[in-house]
Amino acid sequence: MRPSLLNPLFASVQTLPGVGPKLEKLYRRLLGRDDGARALDLLFHLPTGLIDRRARPKLADVVAGTVVTVDVLVEEHRPPPPNRSRLPYRIVTSDETGTLTLTFFSARPEYLEKLLPVGQRRYVSGTTALYDGHLQMVHPDRIVDEEGFAKLPLLEPVYPLTEGLSENNVRRAAEGALAKLPVLPEWQDQDWIVRERFPPFADALRLVHRPLDPIDTSPDTKSWQRLAYDEFLAGQLALGLVRANTRKVTGRRSAGDGSLRAKVIKALPYQLTGSQTKALEDIVADLAKPERMTRLLQGDVGSGKTVVALLACAAVIETTKQTALMAPTEILARQHHKTIAAFAEAAGIRIALLTGRERGKERAVMLEKLADGEIDLLIGTHALFQDEVAFKDLALAVVDEQHRFGVHQRLALARKGEAVDMLVMTATPIPRTLVLTYFGDMDFSELREKPAGRKPIDTRTVDLERFEEVVTGVGRALADGRRAYWVCPLVEESETVDLANAEERFASLKKRFGKAVDLVHGKMKGADKDAAMARFASGETQLLVATTVIEVGVDVPEASVMVIEHAERFGLAQLHQLRGRIGRGSASSTCLLLYKSPLGETAKARLAVLRDSEDGFRIAEEDLKLRGEGDVLGTRQSGMPGFRLARLEFHGKLLQAARDDAALILARDPQLKSERGEALRVLLYLFERDEAVRLIRAG
Ligand code: ADP
Ligand code: MG
Repeated sequence: MRPSLLNPLFASVQTLPGVGPKLEKLYRRLLGRDDGARALDLLFHLPTGLIDRRARPKLADVVAGTVVTVDVLVEEHRPPPPNRSRLPYRIVTSDETGTLTLTFFSARPEYLEKLLPVGQRRYVSGTTALYDGHLQMVHPDRIVDEEGFAKLPLLEPVYPLTEGLSENNVRRAAEGALAKLPVLPEWQDQDWIVRERFPPFADALRLVHRPLDPIDTSPDTKSWQRLAYDEFLAGQLALGLVRANTRKVTGRRSAGDGSLRAKVIKALPYQLTGSQTKALEDIVADLAKPERMTRLLQGDVGSGKTVVALLACAAVIETTKQTALMAPTEILARQHHKTIAAFAEAAGIRIALLTGRERGKERAVMLEKLADGEIDLLIGTHALFQDEVAFKDLALAVVDEQHRFGVHQRLALARKGEAVDMLVMTATPIPRTLVLTYFGDMDFSELREKPAGRKPIDTRTVDLERFEEVVTGVGRALADGRRAYWVCPLVEESETVDLANAEERFASLKKRFGKAVDLVHGKMKGADKDAAMARFASGETQLLVATTVIEVGVDVPEASVMVIEHAERFGLAQLHQLRGRIGRGSASSTCLLLYKSPLGETAKARLAVLRDSEDGFRIAEEDLKLRGEGDVLGTRQSGMPGFRLARLEFHGKLLQAARDDAALILARDPQLKSERGEALRVLLYLFERDEAVRLIRAG
């Protein structure tokens, strides 16, 4: 049950001054609460700026275009001529340094005469503009006399609005909501609060709503940081509680004696990198525990995730259980199958491939073997979800390129076995802050190190006007025996147009370079795609014109040149993915980003980030700054719950601390029974994470 001290905050906004049933409807819209707006929602609706009445510049010092409050003498009324009431009503005012015209459209003269009597002083605030070289203000926000001005706050918050609600409505209601804030117990660690100089929660909320200085409206303030930290902690605690609970319910030990892993490692033509070894250790430790694993393996393109996945599978197969590896595209599933086949064979691991293309008798035989436990590792695409795919004993599911699959798909795979351990891998470098936010219920490992011997990719941005030079340059590379990708422009929302582009470019390059040129795109039949990839991988063809089908995971180490047309139309993360197709072998690689000028500032900045960095994590962070968080993962549409108070750009750094804090709290006081634990329950209710509280009770 919600602690009763919070009840006033969960009461309808109708309990606030000036809010009746009609306005309540508008608050529902403003606060995104279809089922009723509450005082709490308004408290969490933070101002985005403020009106500052402290400085009252002289008219000569007013900068046109800014919002000001000035102290002026009313000089003269200039009503529009009789039958031309469409024209504005102007009132000339002045101080000792200049004049200001106040302009009103369709105003009642009697009203204006009363509001602004000639010969009187008034305080006027609003947005200024220059009109015909004269300073003017159209429909001032406020006009008051000395007495009225004394009553106005010098600083007033500005809230985001919805049609029908005014700033004054929202300010009044927000004030009312602040007045309902109860005395809350402190749920944060006292030392931490002191060290960070955080005010108590209620004070912090009051300060953000009642700024004392323009600086107070920035998310950078201690007050706002405190609120964000509270929100993060509530979220991380809830995730921690959920996880503790699911772990208790399920889990089995699935890591063998290392014999198969040793055989695979022996068969590898290279040494594992330090990060690969570490990631594998993390995974095997998880597998060995009686708890269920949910781990994210995050590794930049080319960091070598596939072999880690294989070794994780090997560890499970050592216990004679089964494993699955799911890839988002057919090309990728086939490539994984091919890469893994040789090493698996060396270790005696029985693998099979299942995509939409495996059909008929062969497929039936394979499925039968799977059900009998005669296949140790099944590699495939979405086809793995299908009902007729049944394992004898699936114990580990690896999902490659996690962000392309929904959570429900991940779960569908998990249901194919009992307490299936999950390893999800992503090459989309998800910023750490986002991992914590969205995958907070997962542990994660990173492959930050690239395999030895990789040379940096020389990336250049080139104006499309120099297209001819680029083609000539590619010709030289081909003559040197190098292999190149040519990625065709992305045309928004239209695969058909993309395709037309690729086909056109293919035709023109083929004219120039003949048989060395090939084409691969998403609409090709699976077998044709494979054949094209195989020709390119073997060196039979040298220049592969492609749509973004090659974006994900394709591995042809000999390719060392990439041209991307209309790079400005691609997302940064996507460009990084694409570029990751080269620079995988020992040759030095070149990537040319062709853009159409003129480029906007942001577009320029984005391409520069890519040109100057190969660190996927940095690129992703920059991308995040330039784009906003939801886009990076494409999660905005899928309804991933966002934050109400925290802003990732400003507060992301606090997330790690909140996560550590939550882990520590739950280790010491898993039932939240201590004094601080009780206070933390209030926090969980306040941020509506109370499902987690219910779990404590059940457990
Ligand atoms: P990604 O993490 O992008 O999926 P892959 O698993 O496709 O990367 O590996 C990229 C390339 O690096 C492959 O050609 C693979 O054989 C090679 N590779 C993986 N690990 C190592 C290593 N430790 N040393 C050298 N090459 C490696
Ligand atoms: Mg991969």
